Formats: sequence, structure tokens, C-alpha cells
Amino acid sequence: MKSIDPAGGGSGCEQLTGEALERHLFLCADCRGRARLAAAWDAMREERPGDGTAAAADERFVAGVLAAVRRDGSRRRLRRLWLAAAAVLLFFFAAGANFADRAAAPASPEEEYAGLTAPSALDGLLPE
Ligand SMILES: [Zn+2]
Repeated sequence: MKSIDPAGGGSGCEQLTGEALERHLFLCADCRGRARLAAAWDAMREERPGDGTAAAADERFVAGVLAAVRRDGSRRRLRRLWLAAAAVLLFFFAAGANFADRAAAPASPEEEYAGLTAPSALDGLLPE
């Protein structure tokens, strides 16, 4: 029977097949690593059957991602536009209210006192 060199240095590890190879893989770390690497490559090749289909899938994926990014960007732009419009409306409402408040002639002390004693016009609108 052939003796197996555990170090495997040039003792014909590559020529082993079948059960002898499996027995050798238990002992030789280098061959075990090479066999695992080969198995990983084979598994990757099985997952990607052809270059053409893989490239087409990648292009479709990239196009989908780009479209989603563009949609998200336009949605954000629209939201920013609405926020800017709301801010402008709020600013002009505050400015207009301030202007209307200042435009009214300042009440004299007598008018202010009359306003305190006389019922306000809004009081008639309140429910009792
Ligand atoms: Zn070996």
C-alpha cells in the first residue's frame, strides 16, 4: 500500500482520486484549502450560467436603481417646492397682518377706555 505524505510537498497529491483523495484531504491542509477553493469557484460558476444573462440582469438592476433614485429626487424636489411656497405664504401673511396692525390709527386713551366699557362687536357672535 502507498504511504501518504501529510506535508504533501511534491509527493503526487494532485494524482490522487476518489477515496484516496478524500483520505488525503483529511491529512493535508494545503490540498484541503485548494479543494475548498475549487468547490467555491464551481459553485459561483453554477450560480452564473452565462456571461450574457448576467450582464443583462446587471443592466436591468442598474436601470431600476437609477430610475428609483430619479423618482426619489423629483419627489424631494417637489416636497422642497411645497415647503418653500408654504414658507413664502406664511411670511407674507405675517407681514400683511403686521402692516394692517400698524396701518390702523393708534387709539387715543379715551377710545381705549370706551373699548373697555362698551361691549365688543364680537360679543354678539358668541353663544351664551
Ligand atoms: Zn496534499
